[in-house]
Amino acid sequence: MQNRVNAFILAAGLGTRLKPLTDHAPKCLIPIAGKPLLEYWVDALADLGVIGARVNTHSHADQVRRFIEDVRTSGRLDLSEFREPVLLGSAGTLAANPDFGDGADEVVLVYADNLSTLDLRGMLDFHRSHADPFTILLVETDNPRGCGIVGVDADGKVLSFEEKPEHPKGNLANGGIYIVDAAAYREIAEMRAFDLGFDVLPRFVGRMRGYRWNGYHRDIGTHAALERARHDAVRLFPSRRKLMGSKRKAVFLDRDGTLIEHVHYLSHPSQVRLVPEGAESVRRLREAGFACVLVTNQAAIGKGLITEDDLSVIHEEMNRQLSDRGAELDAIYHCPIAGSSSDRLAVEHPDRKPGPGMLLRAAAEHDLDLASSWMIGDMVSDVLAGRNAGCQGSILLKNGPESDAASMACASAFDLREATNLILGKETATR
Ligand SMILES: [Mg+2]
Repeated sequence: MQNRVNAFILAAGLGTRLKPLTDHAPKCLIPIAGKPLLEYWVDALADLGVIGARVNTHSHADQVRRFIEDVRTSGRLDLSEFREPVLLGSAGTLAANPDFGDGADEVVLVYADNLSTLDLRGMLDFHRSHADPFTILLVETDNPRGCGIVGVDADGKVLSFEEKPEHPKGNLANGGIYIVDAAAYREIAEMRAFDLGFDVLPRFVGRMRGYRWNGYHRDIGTHAALERARHDAVRLFPSRRKLMGSKRKAVFLDRDGTLIEHVHYLSHPSQVRLVPEGAESVRRLREAGFACVLVTNQAAIGKGLITEDDLSVIHEEMNRQLSDRGAELDAIYHCPIAGSSSDRLAVEHPDRKPGPGMLLRAAAEHDLDLASSWMIGDMVSDVLAGRNAGCQGSILLKNGPESDAASMACASAFDLREATNLILGKETATR
């Protein structure tokens, strides 16, 4: 990195809503998947190449101080402490550290109450691509009255900012991460304000750009949010998953007639059409912690009707349609073997459903726990593949061609949405 970047981590919040946890530890050190929230930010800033970083401390400051020492000893980041015996407010903290940006080109300001997969590098590149001195992270919120609501033009220029508006004009919210030029840092400090949201941001309207982040970004303010984040972190941060030794559960999805509309020997991307609730179902399952793995018999390849390359193009189109709707599969497995038997229940090849091969391989390659996984499909061979692989259940779609065989499945559902509801319903019930 050519430029020097410093970072101020605002982490002194009391965490009142997380009592009694915060009676014994500072909020920023509460572990999420075995790692303190503060450490997620330390790692992200170290990865960004940040040189000097500072964190403010208040309650349980001794614990944070030990954490800071450990970080310094590890050599990851030159982290220092700013002690606040009395809380100064986010802008007040910067006012008390007016020189912190000196010698740096930019300062990253991090409100450390969020668990986030934010691409900080992408945000810094964006900041350097425009001429304004201030970049603010923007995330979509479903609670605009509880957030700072930002209005931007097509170039991301911030045209309006309102903290906790009574009548919100939109749902783009302040994500609590800022990148500012050193001069702007100095300007903020000299405002001698109390709160960044109420006092400072409105004064940068017209000189500030918004960086939109559609990935994961969650405020850990309540017990429910914390519990959710702990669950999500194992999925979001692969290193956490390994550390926690917990395997993911999965939903294996058949392709034709399940995730996309059935077309006899589909051979061209123009024929790919997601079922109406396809993307939403995948999104909901993944949000609930399931890996979504597509497993599809592609006898058309074995019969010479399409090539492996044709199939790749078809799957690219399927992935594009999913991604346009905010969904994504974890993996796709296909079996090119053409079956010859008319017996739908016979395993002709381990990989060809009803053989369990694709599911077993996915489990090995993606660290999946089959016993807590599901199979959804529209054919008996799907149901049996799930059963042969040792899934906890297989769901047969009743809108498919083999609904008469519903008794072979552990459950049946009208369509993918109903199957998703069934799985998520059971999840909630057994939790
Ligand atoms: Mg099918």
